[in-house]
Amino acid sequence: MSSSGDALHQARADHEQHKRTCRQCHADSAPCQVAKHLLRRYNNARRSGARDGLPGR
Ligand SMILES: [Zn+2]
Repeated sequence: MSSSGDALHQARADHEQHKRTCRQCHADSAPCQVAKHLLRRYNNARRSGARDGLPGR
């Protein structure tokens, strides 16, 4: 129930949803600019979460 875990979950959900709904990602079979941005945000959240001592997996 920590805020960092919430941010991590939210960032991951955003990325997952984008991959499902983005036509460009499917057409190119490569992440578009938005996907890259979301993935970076997810990685950042994961990093800061790991710093706080949260279990990675
Ligand atoms: Zn995309």
